[in-house]
Order: sequence, then C-alpha cells, then structure tokens
Amino acid sequence: MTSPHFPHTETASAELSQVTLQYPKGPAVLERLDWQLLPGQVVGLLGRNGAGKTTLLEALLGLREPDAGTVRLFGQDVQHLDDAARARIGYVPQHSDLFESFTPAQLLAYFRSFYLRWNTAKVEGLMSRWDIRPDQPIRKLSGGQKQRLSIIRALAHEPDLLVLDEPVASLDPAGRRDFLRELVGEVLDRGATVVFSTHILSDLERVAFNVAFLTQGRIALQAPLDELLEQVRAFTGSVTEMATLMARLGTEPLKRTPLEAGRERVLARLPADAHLPAGVAVDRVNLDDLFAELT
Ligand code: ADP
Repeated sequence: MTSPHFPHTETASAELSQVTLQYPKGPAVLERLDWQLLPGQVVGLLGRNGAGKTTLLEALLGLREPDAGTVRLFGQDVQHLDDAARARIGYVPQHSDLFESFTPAQLLAYFRSFYLRWNTAKVEGLMSRWDIRPDQPIRKLSGGQKQRLSIIRALAHEPDLLVLDEPVASLDPAGRRDFLRELVGEVLDRGATVVFSTHILSDLERVAFNVAFLTQGRIALQAPLDELLEQVRAFTGSVTEMATLMARLGTEPLKRTPLEAGRERVLARLPADAHLPAGVAVDRVNLDDLFAELT
C-alpha cells in the first residue's frame, strides 16, 4: 500500500501508512501517521521530548506493533521480513544493552556471526579513529565510547537502512555535529537511508539533508533543510489578508498562529517566482523558528 501523501517513485526503504499507536491508558502517540524514507535520504527526525520519536522508530523497525496502519521496509511487511531484508537494517537504540563483560572485540565477533556481510576493514578503521580499545571490558568504556561502539556494530554489515535513536546523546556538545557528519558520510556513498532522531537543532546543521517534524502524532512536514530555510517565510496580517495572500501565492499554510485583533501569523513556502503585494509583513525564518512553530 502506498501512502497518499508522498509520490511513489521507487521502492521506499521504509514506508508507514496511517499508523496509529497508543500505549495502554495513554493518549495516541502516533495518529494516522504517514512517512516515507527513500534510498539516499538522510533524515533528521525532530520532535520535542515525549513527542514520540522513539516510539515511531520502534514502530518503523517492527519492534512495536501499531494499533492500526501498515509499516513496510524494502516493500515487505515489517512483521514478515525475510532474512535478506532483515540483514539490510542497522539499528542503534537510545540505550544499547551492550554485553558489559565482553570486550569490544568479543562483542563484534558475536554480532558478526549473524551476518553474511561484514566489513572488517571498516570496523577496524572506525575502532581506531573513534579511539575504542578492542580488548578492555565494555563496562570500562565511557558513555560516549559505548555509543560509538554500538554505532560501529550497526555499521559493520553495511545496512541499507540505518536507524539511530538520539545517536549522539552521550557525546559532548562540541563533538556531536562533527561526529554525525562523519557517520552520515560512512553510509551516504552507498545510497543508504539514514534516519536519526534528535531534539537538538544544532545536530542537524550541515548534517541532515532532510528534516522531518514529528508533532501531535504525525509527520507535520518533511523537506530538505536548506530548501525550507530558503523558501519558508512568516507572513503577518489580518485573517482575510492572509487567506487572499495564500490563494494568490498558490501555497498552503504550514502553520497558522492567531494574534490579537483578528490578525494571524502564517508560516508558508514562498514560491520562488512569487511577487508579494506591497504592504505584506514578511520575515525569513531559521531552524529555531521552524522547530518552535512546527513541533
Ligand atoms: P520521544 O522519543 O520523542 O521523547 P517517546 O516515544 O519516548 O518520545 O514517548 C512518547 C510518549 O509515549 C511519551 O508521553 C511517553 O511518556 C510515552 N511512552 C513511551 N514509552 C512508553 C511505554 N512503554 N508505556 C507507556 N507510555 C510510554
């Protein structure tokens, strides 16, 4: 089944359609959510704490079964993936339970036994570049080193879909973005799909080519970050003026915020060739504005 909200041009790495998921006694965390991830896409999943990012990634991987809707990976129902499709997935959970008494070398040897494909040269290169000694017990590693080891484990079999839940949470702020860039570089050249969640905006700059905003149980918007920063504007005026303006520009409001005295602030894409009527108040937006208004 294809999602109604995305063009279907090639087999998606992941496709969620009308997914609803609710924990017992809680409100629905995901609500009729549509989402598509294509080969070659790097997507930063943005949402406030508690918005449902972990839940969404777990549903995407088939670790949580939705109450309604479908999840397909590489065109297959996630609950019935064949072994070949399963081997194409890499996952770094927010809190990895690494085997604390193992050494990194033992851990990697263990995981290697599950995969036909395993890039030893890459593993060894990353271990030395990211400064992880292969022969000391994992419990002696720092939080950041454990996170890096967990990422190496997930990269080693060269997955076509790499899912990372807050992958840099244990790293210091200075290193976060550089590390993410390097990580993304590792997978991009193979045309893989990478999705990572974060609530820290600076992680995304120059890393995530696409951003997806999760709010109120849905992906409110997914688009290339530079395109959003280039095209999206905040318009202010009376409700009637705004309705006329949107019709005239042929664009859809992304977010409408009521102001005093019958006025509103409307976030929308400004088409490249559009002529704005005189007197319209318009501002550029940055990533902080987008996050504040869309999540
Ligand atoms: P995020 O990753 O964006 O911080 P989560 O997916 O962890 O969000 O959580 C989304 C919502 O679901 C939160 O309100 C959280 O309290 C709730 N939640 C998460 N896991 C469970 C669970 N196992 N049981 C009940 N509620 C949960």
